[in-house]
Amino acid sequence: MSTIVYLNGQFLPQEAAHISVMDRGFLFGDGVYEVVPVFKQKLFHPAAHLQRLQRSLNAVEIPFTVNEPELTAIFNELLARNTEAAGTQAIYLEITRGAEPQRSHIFPVNTQPTLFIYCFSVPTKSSAEMRQGAHAITIDDIRWQWCFIKSINLLPNVLFAQRAKQSGAAEAILIRDGMAMEGTSSNLFIVKNEVLITPPANEHILPGITRDLMLELAASNQIPYVEAPISTQALFQADEVWMTGSLKEILPIVRIDDQVIGSGKTGVLCNRMIDLYEQNK
Ligand code: PMP
Repeated sequence: MSTIVYLNGQFLPQEAAHISVMDRGFLFGDGVYEVVPVFKQKLFHPAAHLQRLQRSLNAVEIPFTVNEPELTAIFNELLARNTEAAGTQAIYLEITRGAEPQRSHIFPVNTQPTLFIYCFSVPTKSSAEMRQGAHAITIDDIRWQWCFIKSINLLPNVLFAQRAKQSGAAEAILIRDGMAMEGTSSNLFIVKNEVLITPPANEHILPGITRDLMLELAASNQIPYVEAPISTQALFQADEVWMTGSLKEILPIVRIDDQVIGSGKTGVLCNRMIDLYEQNK
């Protein structure tokens, strides 16, 4: 059976869903997106994702008002229509500024934004697999200054992720002006002297929903944490390092470039955060 997707008000087989070659998403990467994980058939924090979507839309001035109940109903309808997918799933949603008659940098007037949503299977990770430490590389963060927008312009992230894969690493940690920011599709956490540290949610990182959840779980479980810049030196000297994201979930990092982190194994606090996160899923 073919996958059913949603495009501009219609549920369609994926092969029948087409957008115009004049769509500004295609021409300019003029759009934003969201990914909502679905654990045990249940949307995970959809409201937080949709609120971030509205912030991204506002930042790039795409005139689209997020209607949470309406979009959530579409997500659930897609899940109901694609029942053959087993295990963990995720919803991908993209909104572009729409198709225009003539390619022009200037925003078109009276153009309907394009709305595309589909669901897909995510390889499921057992808790044991989650706890296996991974390798990360560091890479110069050459992205733009507005990384808080979940823009579909992902070329640097794509190139960095490919570089990480070619190095046998699970993620690349992006370094801007000597400071570790985040991963290609994940946020960064370190532990030093039993304090959890994550970079502040400023314009240089995407404010991750999983990151927020980590901080909530830390706060409600009396785990000390700070949002503070992390220098490259502090990164390499950390007792523990992990990355978080909707699809990566919690990824312990035990080696960065050629350097072993902490004990070289997933740390005590990371294991605790995985337990708390799993209870929350
Ligand atoms: N940073 C970047 C650059 C990302 O692409 C992602 C994945 N959306 C994240 C962080 C993590 O965000 P979230 O926890 O909301 O998936």
